[in-house]
Amino acid sequence: MAKIVAKFGGSSLSDAGQFRKVRSIIEKDERRCYVIPSAPGRRFDQDDKVTDLLYRVYRASKSGEDFHPVFDQIRERFEAIASELSLKIDISKHLDGLEKEIARGVSEDYIASRGEYLNGLLLADYLGFAFLDPKDLVFFAEDGSFDSELTHTVMSSTLKHVERAVIPGFYGSVTGGEIKTFSRGGSDITGAIVARAASAELYENWTDVNGFLMTDPRIVPDACPIRNITYSELRELSYMGAGVLHEDSVFPVHRAGIPTNIRNTNEPENRGTMIMHGVVEEENPYVITGIAGRTGFSVLSVEKAMMNAEVGFGRRVLQAIEENGLSFEHMPTGIDTMCVVVSTAELERVKAKVVKRIMELTSPDSLTIHDDMGIIATVGRGMVHNPGTAARLFTALSSERVNVRMIDQGSSELSILVGVDEADFQKAIRAIYNEFVKE
Ligand code: ASP
Repeated sequence: MAKIVAKFGGSSLSDAGQFRKVRSIIEKDERRCYVIPSAPGRRFDQDDKVTDLLYRVYRASKSGEDFHPVFDQIRERFEAIASELSLKIDISKHLDGLEKEIARGVSEDYIASRGEYLNGLLLADYLGFAFLDPKDLVFFAEDGSFDSELTHTVMSSTLKHVERAVIPGFYGSVTGGEIKTFSRGGSDITGAIVARAASAELYENWTDVNGFLMTDPRIVPDACPIRNITYSELRELSYMGAGVLHEDSVFPVHRAGIPTNIRNTNEPENRGTMIMHGVVEEENPYVITGIAGRTGFSVLSVEKAMMNAEVGFGRRVLQAIEENGLSFEHMPTGIDTMCVVVSTAELERVKAKVVKRIMELTSPDSLTIHDDMGIIATVGRGMVHNPGTAARLFTALSSERVNVRMIDQGSSELSILVGVDEADFQKAIRAIYNEFVKE
C-alpha cells in the first residue's frame, strides 16, 4: 500500500482538542501510517511551548534552583491531555520518573527531547499505533553530526516490520547511547527522514497555516498562498528569508523524489502548499511563484582600470574575504569593477582587516563600501519561458521610484535578485507583488 508520513507541529498537538483533530485527519486516509509528533506547542498567544519549559527546567536544575514549579506546568499539560482523552497510559508515572532523573542530573538534550517523547507516547495510545523510540532509529556521530546513512539503514529495515507507528520528532541518539536533539524545529527533519526510509509517496507537514504565502504578510497583508512550488524554488525563497520548514528537512525528501505537502490542522480541507520534485501537476496562475528578501547587506566595490585583463584579480579579492573568515552572498562584476555582497554584521567584525588586505593584494583605483542594502529575490520557474519578466519587474520598481543598486540573475533563470536601499525594501516588494499578482 502507498504510504503517507504525517508530521504534526507543536500547535497541532497543543491540547486534547488538537489531538482530536489529528486523529480525525489520520483516520480519513489509511495511507497515513507513520506519524511524527512535536512536543505540545502554544495553545494561545502568551502560552509557553513545552520545549521552552523543558529548557527552563534544565537551566534551573543546573544552577541549583528549584525546577519543580516549571516542571509542574509541564506535568499539567501532559496529564490534562491524557485525562481528557481517557488514555490508558499512566503518563504520571513517566513524569514522576523524569522528575527524579532531572533531580539526579541529566543532559540538556535529554530533557529537551522529553516533550516529543511524552507526546509520542500519548499519541500512540490515542491512535492505537505502535510507539517507536527514535533513540534506536535516528543516529548522530560522536562529533555531533547527523549520521544519515546509518539512520536510513536502520530506520528503513525497522519500518518494514511495523505497519503503523508514532515516531517522536526532534531527537535521536549518539549511536544508541546518549540522547541528542536536532536544532530547534527539528521534528520536520525527523519527518523527512521517516518519509525517505518508508519510501512514502507523500510527506505531509501539518502546521497552523494554509501553506506558504507568496510573500511576507507583514509587507503584503493579503498575500496569496502558493499552491505548487518546486524544491529548487523553495530553496531560493528560504535562502532569502522565507521560512516555514526547517532547512535541513528539505534535502532528504527532495533527494528521494518525495513531494512535501504543507497543511493546516485547523483547516484540513485546505490543500495547502505542495512542494514537488520537478514537474508540477498544476501550474500556478502567476508567472512568479514568490518574493522573499533580507536586509542587512553591504557591497564592497573594488574598481581598477583594465581589471578584466588582470589574471587572478577576482581570486585575490576573494582571498582577502576568505582569509578573514567572511562568506560572500553574491558577486556581480562589471568591466572595471567587481562587487562583493556580504552581510553587514559579519563585515563589521573584520572590516579594517578586509580593506587593508584587498588594498595589499589588488592595489585598486578605489574601494568603496555601501551599507544598508536589502536584497529581494523574485522566484519562479515560469520566468524561464516568459520573455519580458525582467522588464516588467524593473518597470514596476522604477514606477515606484525605487533605485536598483544591484542586479543578479542566476543561470538557472529561477530567480532575479535586486539590491535596493533598505529604506525602499518594503516598497520594492509591494511593487513587484502588485505587478505580477494583482491584475
Ligand atoms: N519541539 C521542538 C522545538 O520546539 C522541535 C519541533 O517542534 O520541531 O523546537
